[in-house]
Amino acid sequence: MIKIALDLDDVLVDFVGRFIDFHNEEFGTSFEVDKFVYDDGYYQVLNVEPTEVGQRFKTFRKSPHFKKVGPFPYSIPLLEELKSLGHTVHIVTGRDTGRLNETKEFVEKFFAEQVSWERVHFGSDFHEDKNPQLKHEICISEGFNFLVEDSAKHAFECAEAGIKVLLLDKPWNQKVNSHKNIVRIKNSKNPTSEIISHLKT
Ligand SMILES: [Mg+2]
Repeated sequence: MIKIALDLDDVLVDFVGRFIDFHNEEFGTSFEVDKFVYDDGYYQVLNVEPTEVGQRFKTFRKSPHFKKVGPFPYSIPLLEELKSLGHTVHIVTGRDTGRLNETKEFVEKFFAEQVSWERVHFGSDFHEDKNPQLKHEICISEGFNFLVEDSAKHAFECAEAGIKVLLLDKPWNQKVNSHKNIVRIKNSKNPTSEIISHLKT
């Protein structure tokens, strides 16, 4: 049996797309998801200080755009398919535990049938988090065989820790260091069959 963890934002739900909609409306920018390229963080593409990005996230979460964050067309069928193959499915998010209630509501709204709340883990590297546990630490302690991820940073850290990472091809992860434990999933708009083809222990 394979234990597979999936990241939440930009793997199961469209966070960047809705954030860009918000940002373009609020700040008069004209960003597009396919051209949202950065190496380290949003501050690079928004061209602001990292602390300002945090402020903009806060405003975004209070905006109507945030309420439109939801699953990609493939997300629920993918989770269903993984379950039907007998795999154990978890979610491991980089959100901080300050957003636990909001995230619980969110996961229960969209994925209640596929992932129980006990299988949702918070692997935050935000400094304000009182009890930070990093994603790769969670992957090891929970014994995940695979992680589906979009962040170059989290992919590399988990790969270094020995987790096999299926990295969804996104504009913001093109420069991730190559690693024997990282496989790029090229069709990130319809990744199910590629993901399943790699699930072997
Ligand atoms: Mg993500």
